[in-house]
Amino acid sequence: MNIIGYSKALYTTWIYYSPERILFDAGECVSTLMNNKVYAIKHIFLSHGHVDHISGLWSLINTRNNAMGDRGKDLNIYYPKGNKGIEEYLSFIQKVNSDLRFNLKIFPVEDGEEVVLRNSKQNKKFVKAFRVKHTQSEKSLGFHIFEERKRLKEKFKNLSQEEITELARTKGSDFITTKYYSKILTFSGDTYLLKKSDIEDTEILFHECTFLNKEDRKYNNHATIEDIVELVKGTKIKKLILYHISGRYARKIDRVMAEYKNQIEEIELYYIKPDKLFKL
Ligand SMILES: [Zn+2]
Ligand SMILES: [Zn+2]
Repeated sequence: MNIIGYSKALYTTWIYYSPERILFDAGECVSTLMNNKVYAIKHIFLSHGHVDHISGLWSLINTRNNAMGDRGKDLNIYYPKGNKGIEEYLSFIQKVNSDLRFNLKIFPVEDGEEVVLRNSKQNKKFVKAFRVKHTQSEKSLGFHIFEERKRLKEKFKNLSQEEITELARTKGSDFITTKYYSKILTFSGDTYLLKKSDIEDTEILFHECTFLNKEDRKYNNHATIEDIVELVKGTKIKKLILYHISGRYARKIDRVMAEYKNQIEEIELYYIKPDKLFKL
């Protein structure tokens, strides 16, 4: 299991991606439902300051400070730079938990900024923040995870497997390969809709999907299933995970999703049901 999450529009959203020990957003009940797994979290990326995305943070920090677990590990929190609401909230949490037994590090991030997750010779990964369209008053970010990979240099593409093996043996693998960064995951935060250029080359896309019926959307600040399905057609996405779904659709969600699934058969479609803990 790599992913665990809970999400219901207006109430709460949090998604934990265990391979990088990243929590995306921290809505209410995150510490209750993650239980002692809260100690595994290394990074928390907050997409914006709406209550349903940050209200579980205080409890999470308190749990991690007082429950039985390894308190030695640092916890890093990243949030959109200049967000006064989040800054006030974080300073309140630090005031009331002045005797924290672990290192709480807080970093404001901007559109385009990169956060290094690991930087060893074999394994380089970073998160890159990007601006998303949500509400007028709230600066909102999405996040990509990038991983360094290697591929065969263009000029060796026509060689046979034997010739490639021979070259690698005599000249070393760095001689025949070139490095590139692959987008392995994208988290949308809350948004009207992501841009195609942001998501067409990602492997796992978490996209908010508040509305399963376009007519229910009153303002242009949340996404609809119809628009998302159009957006992902013809992309390289392998897994699409929809979250932030309104509780009003709880009874018909499976039926609606089955209809859209047929339109994007090449993509694995998952959705986080409101009121149900999601695991993958
Ligand atoms: Zn929200
Ligand atoms: Zn929001």
